[in-house]
Amino acid sequence: MAKIHYTKPSITDLEISYATDAATNGWGERCYEYITNFENKFCEHLNAKYAIATSSCTGAMHMGLAALGISAGDEIIIGDTNWIASAAAAVHLGAKPVFVDVLEDTWCINPAKIETAITKDTKAIIAVHLYGNLCDMKALLEIGQRYGIPVIEDAAEAIGSEWYGKRAGSMGTFGTFSFHGTKTLTTGEGGMFVTQDEMLYEKVLSLSNHGRARNQKKQFWADMAGFKYKISNIQAAIGCAQIERIDELITRKREVFNCYAEHFCDLPIKMNPEPPNTVNGYWMPTIVVDENIPFDREMLLTAFKENNIDGRVFFWPLSMLPMFEKKLENVTSYKLYKRAVNLPSYFDLKEEEIEKVANVVRSTLHPTAGAI
Ligand SMILES: *Cc1c(COP(=O)(O)O)cnc(C)c1O
Repeated sequence: MAKIHYTKPSITDLEISYATDAATNGWGERCYEYITNFENKFCEHLNAKYAIATSSCTGAMHMGLAALGISAGDEIIIGDTNWIASAAAAVHLGAKPVFVDVLEDTWCINPAKIETAITKDTKAIIAVHLYGNLCDMKALLEIGQRYGIPVIEDAAEAIGSEWYGKRAGSMGTFGTFSFHGTKTLTTGEGGMFVTQDEMLYEKVLSLSNHGRARNQKKQFWADMAGFKYKISNIQAAIGCAQIERIDELITRKREVFNCYAEHFCDLPIKMNPEPPNTVNGYWMPTIVVDENIPFDREMLLTAFKENNIDGRVFFWPLSMLPMFEKKLENVTSYKLYKRAVNLPSYFDLKEEEIEKVANVVRSTLHPTAGAI
C-alpha cells in the first residue's frame, strides 16, 4: 500500500483548467479577475458581506488585528492549545498573548476561564475553532459584548463548521481562513479575511495594499504604512475551483471522520465532538485516549511510521514554547497533548486505508489483540 499522508489536496481538472487560464490569460486587465471571483464566491459560501483574499491566514490576522488598533502593551486572549499563527500575529504588533485553558471536550478556549484573564489592556479575544471543532460562540460573544472586547474568529481549520446555522468565521468582528496545502480548501498557500463590518473592511483593504486607499487618485501614494499580503491571481484561480467544489470537499471530510468513528466505537477514545445545533467540518479527525488507559503517543506515532502512515502530534500548549511564560495552571491543555493524535484525512483516502490506520490505533491500545 502506498504511503498514507496526513493530508493531501484534491486537485481535479477544474482546478487545473482555471489555473491554466489564469497563467495564460490572467494578466493585464484580467489580473484580478480570479481574485475578485474567489472573494465573491467565498462571501456567498460563508454568508459574509466582505472578504479580502490574502497570501495566508496569518497575514489576514495580522492586518485585522492592526486594523483594530492593537499595538504594544495590549493583550489578546487566546486558547492555550493552539497553532502558533494567530498568537504570532499579535506578538508582531507588540501585543501579549494571554493563554487561557481549553475545554476537555472541544479542545477550544474555556469561556469560564476568560473573565479572570481580562485586564484593562485586553483588546481582543481570539476564538480558534480547533480541528473543525467550534468554540462556544454564544458564551464568547456574550463576554465580548459585556466587556466591550471584540471577538475574532480564527477559522483556518473550520471551513464547513456551523454554529446554530451560522458558518464559522462569519460571527466575530472578523474571521480569518487558511488555504495552506493541508487545509480542506487549498490554494497551496493563501488565506481570507472576512467581516460584516464595512468600515473594518475598508481599513483592511487599504492596509492590504500598502496603505493605499482605493479612492486615492495619486499613483503610488500611501496614506499609511500598510502590508503586502496579497494572493496571486493564479492561486485564486485554484481557489475558485475549490470553492465551487466546497460541498463535496466538506462532505468527504465528514465521511472520513465517520468512518474512523465507526472503527473506534468500542475503544476508550474520544474524537472531535459535534454538539446539537452545530456541524463539524472535521478538518482533522483526532483521537484523545481516555485517561484511565495507559497511552504513549510516541509509541503510536512510531507504529504509524512502521506502517507507512503519517501521524501528527496534537498541538502543544503554546505557553510551553520557549518564547512564552509557562502556565501550568492550564491543566487541560497540559494534559491533552500527551493523549491525543491527529489521523490522516483527505479527499482521496480510501476505506481500506482508513481501516489500516484504525487497526494500528487498535493494536497500540490493545497490544494483545495484535494482528494488523
Ligand atoms: C493553518 C492555520 C493557521 C495559519 O494559516 P496560514 O495560512 O499558514 O497562515 C492559523 N491558525 C490555525 C488554527 C491554523 O490551523
